[in-house]
Amino acid sequence: EVIIRDLSKSFQIDGDKLTVLKNVNLDISAGESLAIVGASGSGKTTLLRVLAGLEEPDSGGVLIDGTPVHGLGKERAVIFQEPRLLPWLTVLGNVAFGLEVQGVSRREAEDRARHYIRLVGLTAFEAAWPRQLSGGMAQRVGIARALTIQPEILLLDEPLGALDAMTKLTMHEELTRIWTEERVTMVLVTHDLEEAIFLADRVLILPKEKSASPRVIEIDLPRPRDRSEARFVRFRQ
Ligand code: ATP
Repeated sequence: EVIIRDLSKSFQIDGDKLTVLKNVNLDISAGESLAIVGASGSGKTTLLRVLAGLEEPDSGGVLIDGTPVHGLGKERAVIFQEPRLLPWLTVLGNVAFGLEVQGVSRREAEDRARHYIRLVGLTAFEAAWPRQLSGGMAQRVGIARALTIQPEILLLDEPLGALDAMTKLTMHEELTRIWTEERVTMVLVTHDLEEAIFLADRVLILPKEKSASPRVIEIDLPRPRDRSEARFVRFRQ
């Protein structure tokens, strides 16, 4: 369970104080899928970075299963828009790398990596090099790499932002399947409201104007979701 309490964060820009997050309060239960949306500059990435432990808040904080977040932790994995694969390693090597760094033997790391490569549907590409992959495939490798360390929480910052519309649709189905099979808590920053409604149980809307409070919308649609229903929710809100 993730508890965000009275979280505030500002940046100093040219001597001015820019408040980016103001008194954000939210509980995210284990296994939930939460999307964060909001206008450009509303603080989505900043909030995700605070959850990841990459950014320290000015006040308030985040508890994960009762422990305050300070820095990166093994229970969290972050996925960015660009997967940044290591070009000198194969798909298998890239996915196994994180485990090997943790001291897991190569054999065990590769066995575990294969499981997640299968989960993202890339078994046939285990021996491929990053430059041979399409954007969607590279992002799938990034997702497999993140899952291999068996995080409880997957933090995704516009993971599909660089992909074409068709690939995005496929990836929505895949992310839903991965989320269901792995029982991982998912926090996803996105610009795409339809994506948020398709993938999330709840959507956190960050206001650009910090005099307003963040809002949370429950997406009360059964899974697997029907895309046309997701569209309907968007218009109703
Ligand atoms: P976008 O949708 O455009 O990615 P966002 O909602 O994710 O935006 P953030 O990236 O969280 O917004 O940034 C919020 C504001 O904080 C922006 O105005 C940004 O310029 C500013 N900001 C973010 N990080 C820093 C930093 N390290 N130093 C100074 N200002 C920052």
